[in-house]
Amino acid sequence: MTAPAPARTTVGIVGAGPAGLLLARLLHASGIDCVVLESRDRGYVEQRQRAGILEQGTVDVLRESGAAERLDREGLPHDGIELRFDGRAHRIDFPALTGGRRVWVYAQTEVVKDLVALQLADGAPLLFEAQVTAVEGAESAQPVLRYTHQGVERRLECDYVVGCDGFHGVVREAIPAGARQTFERSYPYSWLGILADVAPSSDELVYAHSPRGFALLSMRSPTVSRLYLQVPNGTDPADWSDERIWDELDARFALAAGDWKLARGPITAKSVLPMRSSVTEPMRHGRLFLAGDAAHIVPPTGAKGLNLAAADVTVLARAFTGLHRTGSTELLNSYSATCLNRVWRAEHFSYFMTSTLHTAPEQSPFDTRLQLSQLDRIAASPHAAAELAANYAGLPLV
Ligand SMILES: Cc1cc2nc3c(=O)[nH]c(=O)nc-3n(C[C@H](O)[C@H](O)[C@H](O)COP(=O)(O)OP(=O)(O)OC[C@H]3O[C@@H](n4cnc5c(N)ncnc54)[C@H](O)[C@@H]3O)c2cc1C
Repeated sequence: MTAPAPARTTVGIVGAGPAGLLLARLLHASGIDCVVLESRDRGYVEQRQRAGILEQGTVDVLRESGAAERLDREGLPHDGIELRFDGRAHRIDFPALTGGRRVWVYAQTEVVKDLVALQLADGAPLLFEAQVTAVEGAESAQPVLRYTHQGVERRLECDYVVGCDGFHGVVREAIPAGARQTFERSYPYSWLGILADVAPSSDELVYAHSPRGFALLSMRSPTVSRLYLQVPNGTDPADWSDERIWDELDARFALAAGDWKLARGPITAKSVLPMRSSVTEPMRHGRLFLAGDAAHIVPPTGAKGLNLAAADVTVLARAFTGLHRTGSTELLNSYSATCLNRVWRAEHFSYFMTSTLHTAPEQSPFDTRLQLSQLDRIAASPHAAAELAANYAGLPLV
């Protein structure tokens, strides 16, 4: 049962993706009241296929918030990834290179299901099919969210508004254009992603650089594989038959020794994902805050999108808790600068992984030699490998 929405709240949260749901959970634990408004229905939000790698810090905060019971049972801890290039395989050992940090394979759909269940059981009001249409009084002491719920127009008075409403959300647009700046980069390729009912052919993720383009072997569970192929922008998934996909994956993952084979199984989903980097600064304007994809987008090569969202709202929840307990706005005032520091590091890492592993349409043999030199350096130097491992497993929150 969905709780009725009050007419006012302390923190109005727009969006029930990982950012909005986790923020609501953390605020609830601190006794701060909030309301979450989500435009889609529950089934849609819980089934939306997206990220699948959780950093150590994300797992830690899910545990602290009481949302990791199933993650601890079903999540798959991973201690490394494999880089494949020039027909060779090289493993990056995270705990050995980072002083014990690792990542978990646990799908975003499952994180969202766990957080929604907790929220509906004992959390603050969470309204599905509640589309926010406007943020009024963005520069006032009492911003108002206007939204439509079950065909009825409603308003919610807030002390603070947090836009956790993703890249196409309304809260960022409510910040006057002159008070924000967006930095962007798009990439000349996309990913064709599939889900397949077959056990993953590797225990760990495999990132492959090949003359035919990038490929990634990932997984959602011990019986479901998630695989990606670099494809040209504008690709229609319908142009890729199942057999063509498997043949291309085989070609890109091939090792010089010729002793590796990808297990095939029924493909249950195909989609094309464009690659983009974007950061909006600052992440706060007056009483409006931005968190997660509402403020920044990364290409998925570094597995950072969901983890950055979790980091933002952890910092923000601590700031609201500080205000609630001591009346100090110090942490709220430093929220944007604290997050942007980490965001730009993740932006660079995601860009680095993307540009090092993909083959651009106009790429010259010189460019390819530079990529291979970089990958060789990571394979040969513990220092270079440690830098990759530290970024991949996740940097400390602050
Ligand atoms: C197609 C796709 C595939 C991805 N794949 C990967 C991947 O493989 N690996 C990876 O690391 N990352 C991936 N990402 C990135 C990762 O999933 C995101 O970074 C993560 O979802 C961010 O969480 P969020 O809560 O900030 O935003 P979102 O998950 O986008 O949630 C925003 C929520 O706000 C709601 N909303 C929007 N507007 C309104 C409104 N006006 N009123 C009310 N609600 C609103 C939306 O319905 C949505 O539920 C992918 C992203 C996309 C879009």
